[in-house]
Amino acid sequence: MSLHGNDRRDEPSMGSAGANGTVAAASLRLRLNPNKEHKPEGYEDMELDFSPNIFSSLERYLPPSMLNVARVDKAKFMRDILLKYLPLGERNRAQKHKEYRQKIIANYQPLHRELYSVNPATFFVPSFLKAINDNTEQSFRSIMSEPAPGIFVFDIFQPDFCELLLSEIENFEKWVTETKFRIMRPNTMNKYGAVLDDFGLETMLDKLMEGFIRPLSKVFFAEVGGSTLDSHHGFVVEYGKDRDVDLGFHVDDSEVTLNVCLGKQFSGGELFFRGVRCEKHVNTGSHSEEIFDYCHVPGRAVLHRGRHRHGARATTSGHRVNLLLWCRSLSNDFVRLLHTKLFWYTHYSVFREMKRYQKDFSGWCGECNREKKERQRTTIAATRLVSLYVIRMFRACA
Ligand SMILES: [Zn+2]
Repeated sequence: MSLHGNDRRDEPSMGSAGANGTVAAASLRLRLNPNKEHKPEGYEDMELDFSPNIFSSLERYLPPSMLNVARVDKAKFMRDILLKYLPLGERNRAQKHKEYRQKIIANYQPLHRELYSVNPATFFVPSFLKAINDNTEQSFRSIMSEPAPGIFVFDIFQPDFCELLLSEIENFEKWVTETKFRIMRPNTMNKYGAVLDDFGLETMLDKLMEGFIRPLSKVFFAEVGGSTLDSHHGFVVEYGKDRDVDLGFHVDDSEVTLNVCLGKQFSGGELFFRGVRCEKHVNTGSHSEEIFDYCHVPGRAVLHRGRHRHGARATTSGHRVNLLLWCRSLSNDFVRLLHTKLFWYTHYSVFREMKRYQKDFSGWCGECNREKKERQRTTIAATRLVSLYVIRMFRACA
């Protein structure tokens, strides 16, 4: 097979060289840094190929001339850019997943419709709601504990909400069994559980992230993109008899992870944390101050960086269900990559990994910080030595 011509058509091509020069050329005019003053529009009500939050975030990167055009034109422009730079394989995968989701949503009858849009008063405990409404670091701190650096624990959901959600999940699983529908599991590590986004809860979870988790992440995790979270992967995991037992040591594919225990009765299943690490240092040892174990309580949330290494011990009896929301900041990386040559040779699905390798130092990685301190310590020691030497020289001269 020839390596020329059409065989290479799924590689993104640069601007004016391609037949679709207009789109590519236009995309090159996206700003490198977002316009922070611009207030983006909402895209929830539109039929789009990507999450509405991605469009809102990406809007800040539009060239100034496009900021005030009709919303539908902005959406089309951004959609074209996003689609253009997804390699063909990735585009097909995204299309297949969209069809998979539509098939479920068209056939599955939700049991509790009230779960499918956020109702703060019935979802959240009053203390959490008040803290979010006050929207200050002090108000957030007043409802949280930080038992280990970068791990925040707080009550979030009302017991009734947890129960409704558990019953909805049960209903969905019953439907899966009855119809023999082959569902995709939440990730490579969990054989049980379900992706909530796949059976209609995507919009609700997007709102949960945008209105309730992003304000917290903006304060506590800004250095990993906490203020620009714009997409999520929302799912439940299930542990116990006839379910998953434990979960190996890993990092999440997220900037920020929200982990909430929904119930039911169980023992064991503790989360163990072992320090935040960048890709380069992900397998390094942990230090005593990084070791932290956490026992789940229904309705209570744990919020941490995706790169905070963790695992779950065996659930020894009963049945435990946890809601996981992997929150990501995609538009930021996407625009940055549009401006790097490397992007043309790489694949959309690995770009999150790539950016991690590009950095030699991460302020949030425990090991990078230790290396930096060690370098500083050596420098300081060397400086002291030189000073001592100079002082002695002066004394000798005097
Ligand atoms: Zn590091």
